[in-house]
Amino acid sequence: MTGAVIQAAHIPWQEAVIERIRRQTKSVTSFFLRPQNWRSFQAGQHLDVRLTAQDGYVAQRSYSVASAPGFEGLYELIVERLEGGEVSPFLHDVAEVGDTIEIRGPFGGHFAWNPGDGGPLLLIGGGSGIAPLMSILRHRATVGAAVPTILLYAARTWEDVINREELIARDAAELDFTVLFSLSRDTARRSQDAGRRIDGPMLKATLARLGAAPRLTFVCGSDGFVEAVTGHLLDLGLVPETIRTERFGG
Ligand SMILES: Cc1cc2nc3c(=O)[nH]c(=O)nc-3n(C[C@H](O)[C@H](O)[C@H](O)COP(=O)(O)OP(=O)(O)OC[C@H]3O[C@@H](n4cnc5c(N)ncnc54)[C@H](O)[C@@H]3O)c2cc1C
Repeated sequence: MTGAVIQAAHIPWQEAVIERIRRQTKSVTSFFLRPQNWRSFQAGQHLDVRLTAQDGYVAQRSYSVASAPGFEGLYELIVERLEGGEVSPFLHDVAEVGDTIEIRGPFGGHFAWNPGDGGPLLLIGGGSGIAPLMSILRHRATVGAAVPTILLYAARTWEDVINREELIARDAAELDFTVLFSLSRDTARRSQDAGRRIDGPMLKATLARLGAAPRLTFVCGSDGFVEAVTGHLLDLGLVPETIRTERFGG
């Protein structure tokens, strides 16, 4: 039996009220959930969300928590709407402020960062794969950890960059934090960004910018994204045990 199964058996489903909804991009929305019983979590962990139709049909999916562990007793989930999907279109098109949904968690121990883990940190996200990395970044800032950190974030266009303004503001305000955008279908808007997909030379330059080998590297996104990025990182000599991955499927 895996650790996740043991954890799940001990964590009951509970109701959470959707307290706020914030449109992020044309296909991505943040949902702020207030659970009946607050359970704290580690930055990087995820919740399960369960929807039950009137005829009893149940759909259950996982969503990373994007907020920092202490944030207002709320869990922020960043959900990308997938055409033809069951849960993400429901959340986008049907769910409203004041509605109740069922959640369970937090889960996941491997893809988590605690201040004691230290740094330097290399965070690499694709699309909605930014969600758990936002939690790590926000937690790092909240606890005032002096941890050199670079976020390399891949999106299709400038308009698709989730939390763009917050990330740029953090880059300007926080010591030792840099965000780099890799836009696969757009031109770079800032000198440090790139108008192409993440590739080996880009990762090599990012590692050089970090200055020292990352103590931990977190990679999150679709299967193909995680596969490609970790392949390049291993080619560049990163130690496998320092690389943590989270795959969203697809
Ligand atoms: C640990 C973890 C954390 C995650 N965190 C996040 C997060 O923070 N944000 C986020 O947006 N997602 C996250 N995900 C992904 C999320 O769990 C869902 O997989 C995602 O939202 C899609 O669910 P859905 O019900 O909308 O789509 P699904 O119903 O699962 O469908 C997914 C896609 O497959 C297609 N499809 C479905 N059935 C078929 C079929 N029979 N034939 C062909 N195509 C089909 C659909 O059209 C759709 O495009 C996470 C996943 C994991 C495992």
